[in-house]
Amino acid sequence: MEKLYIFDTTLRDGEQSLGITLNVKEKLEISRQLVKLGVDIIEAGFPASSPGDFESVQTIAREIKGATICGLTRAVDRDIDVCAEALKPAEVARIHTGIATSPVHMAKKLNMPPHQVLEAAVAAVKRAKKYVSDVEFYAEDASRSEWDFLVQILEKVIAAGATVVNIPDTVGYATPWGYADLIAHIKNNVKNIDQAIISIHCHNDLGMATANSLAGIRAGARQVEGTINGIGERAGNTSLEEVIMAIYSHRKSYGIELGINTREIAATSRLVSRISGVPTPSHKAIVGANAFMHASGIHQDGVLKERDTYEIIDPEIVGVPRNLIVLSARSGRHALKHRLEELGYTDIQESLDDIYARFLTLADQKGEIFDEDLHAVMGNVVEGNGISIKTLSVASHGASTASASVTLEVDGQEVTEAALGNGPVHAVFKAIDAIVGKKVKLEDYSLKSVSQGSEALGDATVKIRYKDNLIVGRGISTDVFEASARAYVNALSKASHLAE
Ligand SMILES: [Zn+2]
Repeated sequence: MEKLYIFDTTLRDGEQSLGITLNVKEKLEISRQLVKLGVDIIEAGFPASSPGDFESVQTIAREIKGATICGLTRAVDRDIDVCAEALKPAEVARIHTGIATSPVHMAKKLNMPPHQVLEAAVAAVKRAKKYVSDVEFYAEDASRSEWDFLVQILEKVIAAGATVVNIPDTVGYATPWGYADLIAHIKNNVKNIDQAIISIHCHNDLGMATANSLAGIRAGARQVEGTINGIGERAGNTSLEEVIMAIYSHRKSYGIELGINTREIAATSRLVSRISGVPTPSHKAIVGANAFMHASGIHQDGVLKERDTYEIIDPEIVGVPRNLIVLSARSGRHALKHRLEELGYTDIQESLDDIYARFLTLADQKGEIFDEDLHAVMGNVVEGNGISIKTLSVASHGASTASASVTLEVDGQEVTEAALGNGPVHAVFKAIDAIVGKKVKLEDYSLKSVSQGSEALGDATVKIRYKDNLIVGRGISTDVFEASARAYVNALSKASHLAE
């Protein structure tokens, strides 16, 4: 059986679309989980785009073993040199370079005639090849490129040493049959195609990224690119978990094998959602909260009699436990740790005893502890630089004034400030600003309720702009103002971390 290589670009194509900056620690946490999931290639970033991205790619290249680490470049000498430098510590490195090949991109964006694009493509592959043996070439906007020109350029870059050729549907314009025809045309007409792997990279503008990817695989592609939860530019990238499970469910008809540990899918999805601040819709295929829930009475009855009646995937295959163990004050450290790992807390820095102590406090208050409660337990952990919330009180004075008093512990010192605001959350944030004294702009704030039972938990997300970075903070608490304060302090902590 031939192998299908899974190329994850959550940290590159996914991150660049978020408008937010994930810190190195967050990117490492995602990378470690991607290795557990079994992806073959991790595209860690675009090193020449910023010093921060360079550092992230370099750190991932140094720390992460068990997957090829890849960096993106344009067909520009400096990009390739910088990328090679960042990838130097990697166990196995790949440079992903390329150029646009569609008439509109060549004429309007690059302002280059086709023959010049061809020369630049070949030169880029040759330059990358001086540094690494594994070079992937992308023909940007391939799905809107002229087929003859694509065949010509692919033949030349493969001759120059490209080991993988990526045929992206950059703008999400393709249809399954059109895209399959294109991949088949390349397979049948590029003379030296047997020396390279065909890769596909789709976007979901017409809701067909997964369908197009599967069509491309059927037509002969042996590498698929995408992101976890489908995060990415505009309507997103291909959801890798969808492609993986579509192939798994119909594995006989594809005749290819995957090196994926499907049981890590749910944990990977939750981790990416938690770190990126992008919620997964409840109806999302494979990873949505309702993906394995049966609401209709007829369906429930059927599934109880025989699972196959209404269920095509056993939830356990993707890491959703069938028999949820209900945690309570009687649960031990091991059960807590196990559940936390399932929820994506795979790289816990804090001591388990401290977490367990908070867990017991909450379990005493609530009785049964649900997953959302565990996120709250973990939400108590404020990252990095030693800011934590000691006390918080708010008061409303009519429709548009409120006051807040906040005590924070900053580097071991307790500091209290009070502030007035248009509403209680505004007042809390102003009081925190007065203590922390960092120039940030609040770009977005949202609050939703999670958890079951009467002690609803508030889950707050804030986005702040600090220097040129957009940073996400999250906080969860049974008190909505405390949840908001935690989210804000969490984001400020990350901002401090960036400044160091
Ligand atoms: Zn893309």
